[in-house]
Amino acid sequence: SADGVSEVRVAMMADKVERRIIAVGSGKGGVGKSTLATNLAVALARQGRKVGLVDADIYGPSQARLLGTEGQRPVAHDSKLVPIASRWGVPVLSMAHLSDPGQAIAWRGPMAAGALTQLLEGHWDGAEILIVDLPPGTGDVQLTMLQKFKPAGAVIVSTPQDLALMDATRAIELFEKGGVPIVGVVENMAGYACPHCGEVSDPFGAGGAEAVAKTMGQTFLGRIPLDMSIRLDSDAGQPPAAGEGPQAQGFADLARKVGE
Ligand code: ADP
Repeated sequence: SADGVSEVRVAMMADKVERRIIAVGSGKGGVGKSTLATNLAVALARQGRKVGLVDADIYGPSQARLLGTEGQRPVAHDSKLVPIASRWGVPVLSMAHLSDPGQAIAWRGPMAAGALTQLLEGHWDGAEILIVDLPPGTGDVQLTMLQKFKPAGAVIVSTPQDLALMDATRAIELFEKGGVPIVGVVENMAGYACPHCGEVSDPFGAGGAEAVAKTMGQTFLGRIPLDMSIRLDSDAGQPPAAGEGPQAQGFADLARKVGE
């Protein structure tokens, strides 16, 4: 509602920081949305930006694992949650910090929206950019984001195969209808270099996300290759963007475009 939006503005004025919410969304799960959100945030922090990360994937939170903050519980101050400081200069709030590992979160829409509100209304004082890792698809959490915490922009990630692209198109449409500008589209998991022979193949195809961006008049931000080190480092709570490998460079380039 209009009231919700003005509440957020007032809250922002109170801590005197112009804060931009950048939502990271996808049509489907498993396409690398959370991985991108983590590494964009870490890369932005490396570039000297004050950034926070909200894990809005209420039902399938993964940011505690990805940032290596598992097992930590946020305290509340003035009945607002205090984000957990990760080792990468990125404070984070996630349902993963509020529930037990592996515990199923089976909430109806209004409760999920309530949880989302708690995470977004945490003590984000000082963060100029809030990266929000959305759940996949176009459900209640996305609607609450649009109505109550309208992002300044949305980054859409997709793998290059047709089914994922179809859903990515829907995600783009949802944000556009909600008046949220699309920062751009990222293609993930294109181009796999065989660790044995070095030959590059495209298990999920290649170029599809760029084509969708073009068709929909959106910016194509770049592609992230399918690389085992991304999965291994991510699972270990070591964001590739914090490292020195070629993938760190790729995430840094994406972050520069997103942070503009
Ligand atoms: P989503 O948030 O879209 O559900 P995730 O970010 O959780 O997807 O990624 C799903 C799985 O794929 C994770 O195990 C992640 O480490 C892995 N993954 C994501 N992107 C890549 C990539 N470019 N190369 C290798 N593995 C990846």
